[in-house]
Amino acid sequence: MNAYQQPDARGHFGPYGGSFVSETLTYAISELRDAYAHYQHDPAFVAEFERELARFVGRPSPVYHAQGMSTELGGAQIFFKREDLNHTGAHKVNNTIGQAMLAKRMGKPRVIAETGAGQHGVATATICARYGLECVVYMGSEDIKRQSPNVYRMKLLGATVVPVESGSKTLKDALNEALRDWVANVDNTFYIIGTVAGPHPYPMMVRDFQSVIGRECIQQMPDLLAEVGCHSLQPDAVLACVGGGSNAMGIFHPYIGHPATRLIGIEAAGEGLDSGKHSASLQRGLPGVLHGNRTYVLQNEDGQVTETHSVSAGLDYPGVGPEHAWLKDIGRAEYVGITDTEALAAFHHLCRTEGIIPALESSHAIAHAMKLAPQMRRDQSILVNLSGRGDKDIGTVADLSGADFYCRPSCRGQGVKGGTAVVELHA
Ligand SMILES: *Cc1c(COP(=O)(O)O)cnc(C)c1O
Repeated sequence: MNAYQQPDARGHFGPYGGSFVSETLTYAISELRDAYAHYQHDPAFVAEFERELARFVGRPSPVYHAQGMSTELGGAQIFFKREDLNHTGAHKVNNTIGQAMLAKRMGKPRVIAETGAGQHGVATATICARYGLECVVYMGSEDIKRQSPNVYRMKLLGATVVPVESGSKTLKDALNEALRDWVANVDNTFYIIGTVAGPHPYPMMVRDFQSVIGRECIQQMPDLLAEVGCHSLQPDAVLACVGGGSNAMGIFHPYIGHPATRLIGIEAAGEGLDSGKHSASLQRGLPGVLHGNRTYVLQNEDGQVTETHSVSAGLDYPGVGPEHAWLKDIGRAEYVGITDTEALAAFHHLCRTEGIIPALESSHAIAHAMKLAPQMRRDQSILVNLSGRGDKDIGTVADLSGADFYCRPSCRGQGVKGGTAVVELHA
């Protein structure tokens, strides 16, 4: 597998990827491709990126042995890569720093981004504040209602949040709207995409920026595994949740050349893979073109993109990064589903057994680790990418659990469901 060299020069991962954009964007895309091809190998750029990750984000993030959970399950040793401990609380900032550094060098003073749950919007607004860049974030009006604390965070950081009223008023519509803005403002605007999707070079570039996660793990794991008496120097399985697929590509990519390590991506099975209410593009989608690349897309018989569902807004996307489509087809990675109910149970379990409140997205990967560990030996190991912390999700979890979550008097007793609780920011 050392021969793994993807994508090709035109951004293809086998039959997937590529660059399907309107003529007006062709120039902007080729300008970005050239800039990245240059700076990716520029020692000053690489050194600044590493310095920012160390000093602003707090990298390297630790790997932690979940001893209580492993003992209780009685099988493989479970480890967590703690991306939840990054500044802004998730893996997303690794990528926004890299792209914002490119924007500065390309002389683009204005940054746009799309966001679903608001995590990528917050990570983009954060780095724009730090670098003095104007920041405009497109967000579906449905998501704005569901994620009010993140909307306010972006505003505190100086960003403009533009509500998107088209389509299902969620992430895919925000992405369409951001692409439209880019077409109209290519001269002064840099588009920071939040996952390994979009036209080439985004899937490759975002993967490269996020691969710091897996590179750190390859260094960190041998000592940790030896300490607990595991049989190998690297984990037997690496697990990550897959929305667009950036935290998964970040941890998978450096492991592709380690054939003894299974790579398992966990998609949101929502109310069940056969319920029609899920976001499992790789397991229930068909190849198609979405947002500038060819990949697996959830679509109906006429090729129309269908509605998605997941309890976690960050996994609620009808497409998936094209490299995952390729890894699935060549059999290097496996993809499974975890339902809303299973993810919620894993969320509560981690809170109680390890003292960590995980993001609902990450809870999907944890739930699969809980299924897999008991089928493995005690000297085997599972490494889970804990992509983010769950503070943003406590309103959703409280609503779904029927718990009393403190909110403004105006929202009390209104039967709030599915994450619509209004969080009072100043108690
Ligand atoms: C955005 C997000 C995800 C999903 O995005 P990927 O590109 O699939 O990684 C997962 N976990 C957290 C915490 C997120 O914020």
